[in-house]
Amino acid sequence: MRFTELRTLLGECLRHQPGRTWLLLVLTPLGAVTPGLTALGLQWIVDGVLTGDRPTIVGGAICAATAGAFALAGSRVVQVQTGLVANEVGTVLGRRTMRWCATLPTTAHLEDTESLRRIEQIRGLGPRTVSFGLNCLSVAQSGLWLVITTVLLARVHPVLLALPLFAVPSILLTRTTSRRMEAASAATTERNRAEQHLFTLITEANSAKELRLGASGGYAAGIARRLRDERAAILGRATLAVGALTLIGSLVFVAAFLGALLLTARLALSGTVTPGALLLVATLGGQIRGQLDLLSQALTRTARGLTMTGDYLWLRDLHAASSGGTLAPPDRLSDGITLTGVDFSYGGPPVLRAIDLHLPAGATVALVGDHGSGKTTLVKLLCGFHRPVAGTLTVDGTPLGELDSEAWRERVTSAFQDFSRFPFLAREAVGVGDLPRIDQIGEAAEKGGAAQVFARLPEGGETRLGKALGDGVELSGGQWQKIALSRAFMRGTPLLAVLDEPTAALDAAAEYEVYQRYAQAARQWQEATGGITLLVSHRFATIRMADLIVVLDGGRIIECGTHAELVALGGRYAHLYDLQASAYR
Ligand code: ADP
Repeated sequence: MRFTELRTLLGECLRHQPGRTWLLLVLTPLGAVTPGLTALGLQWIVDGVLTGDRPTIVGGAICAATAGAFALAGSRVVQVQTGLVANEVGTVLGRRTMRWCATLPTTAHLEDTESLRRIEQIRGLGPRTVSFGLNCLSVAQSGLWLVITTVLLARVHPVLLALPLFAVPSILLTRTTSRRMEAASAATTERNRAEQHLFTLITEANSAKELRLGASGGYAAGIARRLRDERAAILGRATLAVGALTLIGSLVFVAAFLGALLLTARLALSGTVTPGALLLVATLGGQIRGQLDLLSQALTRTARGLTMTGDYLWLRDLHAASSGGTLAPPDRLSDGITLTGVDFSYGGPPVLRAIDLHLPAGATVALVGDHGSGKTTLVKLLCGFHRPVAGTLTVDGTPLGELDSEAWRERVTSAFQDFSRFPFLAREAVGVGDLPRIDQIGEAAEKGGAAQVFARLPEGGETRLGKALGDGVELSGGQWQKIALSRAFMRGTPLLAVLDEPTAALDAAAEYEVYQRYAQAARQWQEATGGITLLVSHRFATIRMADLIVVLDGGRIIECGTHAELVALGGRYAHLYDLQASAYR
């Protein structure tokens, strides 16, 4: 039983909707009493008719009618109030999860399959989760009803005490089936996500172009078909198994009910019980099926609601555990950023090993290495997206983990090769680089080249980009890159500026121009704040300008120094530099 989830869910309902939640908590036991009162009332009416006892008839009629009316009105009130509570509380939880997802300081959870599965489930978190979870009240009501029914049946004959017991297999099987359906649903989530991703690849202009050219559209569609078939097979098998188990549970109970009716009829014939008792057993026995159906549905929904609440708690704990420290980053760097014995892995083999590196304040540092050597991973650690598995990473002597991660992020600017293509207005796509100054993009748009892009757009900076949020204008790769670069220029005084091959889509002249502007800006913030500029590039014309060049290979630093020092060393750097230089000769 998921008590923590249950406590959390009811706690949130009581906090945000106390009146309505208490009303539901009070109506729950009352709802359990009414069916028993109806059955008793009917028994009294029959017995009163057979014995000619008017007060018993009237008492039975009042009892049955009041209980019936209350059951009807009560269930309607419960339905409406549950809907209202679910809506209000679900909206609060949904809003909260959205905020947590958006502000998680690290992004490690977005690169791990199990976490992505949970995020996918959380995406649907809202009113439905709460209304599913509140089915626990129906479970309690049905449980209480079962106890009352058992007592009433036992008054007719002790053997009938066993009748609800025959419902136990059905309840147990219901729990098994709900677990089975949950497992099937979890097993299909990953396939569903992969299939949707493939669909996006097939239908998004950029990737569709590459798929068409490589004639691999059919290949991608084939994988999607296989995933869909697997998903259908898993769900089909689970549905069949669930159907068979439910049928077995029902048959066991129907046989027992028949036996109970025959026994009561014999007792009535022999005069041991009144004929009205037969009606009581028939009414209650008949309700057992319906109530069990309700119970089984309520159990399934509660399990689903609590599983989703479990995912909500996982996200809450993840957010709390990774919310970083509370210290403010320094106004200006005096010493720099130091990595000591840093190891990192994405959960598999190590990707960075025993990194000892000092990035001096005010320096321009270039990272060089083959694809997969760990350059981007090192950048991600410096930005605070991931935490080292071992070793320390300090900013002017303070561990990065102790700094308020949002405050640190505000002092970092970055432009990545796989930059985002935000489907906002063109000026917004630049301005979100520094949200508080979203309307002051002038200088950044000039420096990063976005101003040139705006000049060619039908409505300048007010033009919507991309197709995701409306019928916007699609840009070329180079134009998107200029938007991304300008976004990186938005942060006025960064302590760390990262350029991870952001000019790959630009031609040589445009790249030269961007780097000139970047170098100029870098000089400004290096003087103002001791900021560090980190370049990841394959172009040696850019790399050689750096104050410090770090050569990575297989996750280790193999060489470190200035251009002149590394050329003189005659190692890997000198070899790579020669290769590129000779290509231009
Ligand atoms: P580079 O930037 O030098 O090309 P990366 O830092 O991107 O290298 O990658 C270093 C290694 O880490 C590669 O072997 C790559 O496959 C692996 N890697 C990168 N990102 C992930 C990830 N999200 N999950 C697992 N492995 C990853």
